[in-house]
Amino acid sequence: MPDLMTHVAISHLIKRPFELKQESSKTVPMRTVFYLGTILPDVLSRPFYILFPVTREWVSLYHHPVGFILIATLFALFFDPTIWKRAWMHLMAGGMLHFLLDSFQKQIASGIAWLWPFSWRIYGYGLMEAGDILHYIPLWISLIIIMEMGFYYIRRKRQTHSVKEHLV
Ligand SMILES: [Zn+2]
Repeated sequence: MPDLMTHVAISHLIKRPFELKQESSKTVPMRTVFYLGTILPDVLSRPFYILFPVTREWVSLYHHPVGFILIATLFALFFDPTIWKRAWMHLMAGGMLHFLLDSFQKQIASGIAWLWPFSWRIYGYGLMEAGDILHYIPLWISLIIIMEMGFYYIRRKRQTHSVKEHLV
């Protein structure tokens, strides 16, 4: 399980380029829902099984794709009926990205059973230890700053171009 900071930072790096052509007032709410999806599997399982180890079997259900479908559906129902489907899709996309990132890490106690309830087989690449991933946080933050500066430059160039067209 990469830390939550890594989950959110990588989510940002993946999600933001898709929003470049849209207005920020429309993209920020769903981006936030996407981030929520990326942290929910850990937030709904880790604290509970650390504090109350006997609950591990139950709460680890939320840390599997099928269990997360139930959680995403439950959370999406809190949204306005006009946007709940978009909210559900963003929660699910965030959750699946979470499981994908978890798959790259060496699992200490358990991994991602992608095919549960059909199979308990754990799938993963086991490329990194949990502690190794923490060293990459400055890299994620640097990439985010560079990306946001690039997006700022592109937006500003577009605005200048549209003002010039308006004046001609
Ligand atoms: Zn996780």
